[in-house]
Amino acid sequence: MPSSLPAEALTRILSETFGFAEFRAGQDAVCSAVCTGRDALVVMPTGSGKSLCYQLPAIALGGTALVISPLIALMEDQVAKLRERGLHAERIHSGRPREASRAAAMDYRDGKLQFLFLAPERFSVPGVTAFLARRKPCLVAIDEAHCISQWGHDFRPDYRMLSQHLPAFRPAPVIALTATATRVVQSDIVQQLALENPLRSIQGFRRKNIAIEVVEIPPAARRDSVLEILRSADRRPAIIYVPTRNDAEELAVDLNRHFRADAYHAGLNADHRQRVQREFLSGEREVIVATIAFGMGIDKPDVRTVIHTALPGSTEAYYQEIGRAGRDGLPSRAILMHSYADRHRHDFFFDRDYPEPDVVAEIFNALRRDRAISKEQLQKQSRLDPAIFDTALEKLWIHGGAIIDPEENVQRGTAEWRDSYIGQSRQRAVQLEQMLRYAAADQCRMSALVRYFGDHTDAQTHCGNCDFCAPQTCVAQQFRAASIREEKTAHRVLKALQGGLARSSGKLHAELCPHGELDRDPFEELLGAMARAGLIFLREAVFEKDGKQIPYRTAQLTREGEILEPDEPLALELREKPERHAGKKRAYAPRAETKPNEIDAADQPLFDALRAWRLAEAKAKNLPAFRIASDALLRSLTEDRPLSEDDLLMIRGAGPGFVKHYGNAILKVIASYETARVSENP
Ligand code: ADP
Ligand code: ZN
Repeated sequence: MPSSLPAEALTRILSETFGFAEFRAGQDAVCSAVCTGRDALVVMPTGSGKSLCYQLPAIALGGTALVISPLIALMEDQVAKLRERGLHAERIHSGRPREASRAAAMDYRDGKLQFLFLAPERFSVPGVTAFLARRKPCLVAIDEAHCISQWGHDFRPDYRMLSQHLPAFRPAPVIALTATATRVVQSDIVQQLALENPLRSIQGFRRKNIAIEVVEIPPAARRDSVLEILRSADRRPAIIYVPTRNDAEELAVDLNRHFRADAYHAGLNADHRQRVQREFLSGEREVIVATIAFGMGIDKPDVRTVIHTALPGSTEAYYQEIGRAGRDGLPSRAILMHSYADRHRHDFFFDRDYPEPDVVAEIFNALRRDRAISKEQLQKQSRLDPAIFDTALEKLWIHGGAIIDPEENVQRGTAEWRDSYIGQSRQRAVQLEQMLRYAAADQCRMSALVRYFGDHTDAQTHCGNCDFCAPQTCVAQQFRAASIREEKTAHRVLKALQGGLARSSGKLHAELCPHGELDRDPFEELLGAMARAGLIFLREAVFEKDGKQIPYRTAQLTREGEILEPDEPLALELREKPERHAGKKRAYAPRAETKPNEIDAADQPLFDALRAWRLAEAKAKNLPAFRIASDALLRSLTEDRPLSEDDLLMIRGAGPGFVKHYGNAILKVIASYETARVSENP
């Protein structure tokens, strides 16, 4: 293992093999560390370039990298991408014929591979670890590493076994990668994989090109709102996330009257899902209405809008879903619709899915350690509603309190189920609470998300384009000027905060509106407007009372608020109330957002010709068009019109692999366009 590689060596690989001009935040530190043999934990959001963090060191170190990945689609995608770059990559998983996997294993043994992708359950096949360990890999990468933690949202028992097998591959450094890991999950990953003094790289959560908007809309008005938002062509392609399969089907039918829309959810068969996904990737479909099942492993760069028509169940899921917008770096928007109804819906599901511990305990107490009882009989005895009984028994089993054989005979398990179950249901409640608070807060949305994922330094910076930072640019949220009475109250708030101390908003309300001059909710909204106007800071906080977390918030003057004259006009903008939204026809004025796809009229024919070439190539290879070349690359090619391979290599995004595969064809298209142009305009 080399003790260190010069930084130039890494940047050279970056440009020669990957065609990238510079590292993204965090990538270079991880690459250098792994190249010196150090373990690493990389927490970076989807699309931020995690793969490079193991791919580049693998090339720098030489030899073969073992990559463990839980999803066949992800593996296939990664292998295809690496091969496009001219690298030797193979994969072994259950979706391939046995001979193909055997051949891959032989190639590994003979040292012909730079990357071997494996599904985690492969390690349970006897002899596999010993076989692989005979030729030590240069590094082991574990993708989707949060799957190892039961605190993560996607726990996979197969991942648990990895820790037994990793020692066989040492001294290779182990690099664990994930897009979603709160602090608890991060520590869990490090501990369970036994990472040695890993470099922890947690960053990249800020997405500068996504304008986040959170808007309170009653459920009945959301459909119209979605339609209005998507009317402008520059807000499509779009992904709409909805809570249920029914919602997906219904909204897709509605939207399909206006745009080429389709539903996507786990209830559709695999072929159907693949077709929808393919059509969305190729641009044939502009709008996808999906349940959470959509998006794993897809990488469509030009999604302009992501809409949630209901409050998601966790910040992790929400962040991952909005992250599918604007992978190409161009301006995009993420709109979350919510209202009180969403809280009720979540509460309902929570009560249904997490019965009270005492209910679960009833079943546990009825069980015996020395004798099994049939599930049927147990249920009769318990006198619980069958649905509740099933859920409670399942929880008991998950947490080890019941042992159930294949014939569904039940025996008593460990008494430790209780703490484990309570821990898990608290965790779930906290996740929901955090999501609700996020939606209700008056603060920069992107800062709030970055803070949630543990990057406290970066959280200091406001994004400048969310509904808090830039209300005037909102698409779904409407604002109105403050009334005279509200303006007066705002002045009294400023006065009450003189002296600089932070005060809780509840106390302020009680003091300033003792006779109900303004209800609590409108008062809080007024404070929000004052925060948006830069007059006060609002801080969300919680205190504990009787074991419960009670959220509250405090207000404090900003410098600007402090120096304001007592009767200066405040120009406050308040959010329109949901009732006013409902039914009312709203006009959405087109906004002066930068047009992402602008191209000079004179260049259009060449751009079209390149797109036609790309489409033909994509069809021949049965790949989505952008996998051949991104729009951005086609645009650069159009503008710069390279005439030789050397020119071509100078274009950002056209790496040696790309040029090798497509260079000739592209130069031909450009040349023919040049001749056409010359003969048209002599
Ligand atoms: P993740 O695994 O984090 O979801 P990927 O590794 O698939 O993300 O990277 C997302 C996209 O970013 C890919 O298209 C990749 O080629 C691109 N990318 C990664 N690193 C860089 C870089 N340094 N400069 C430019 N593009 C990059
Ligand atoms: Zn902001």
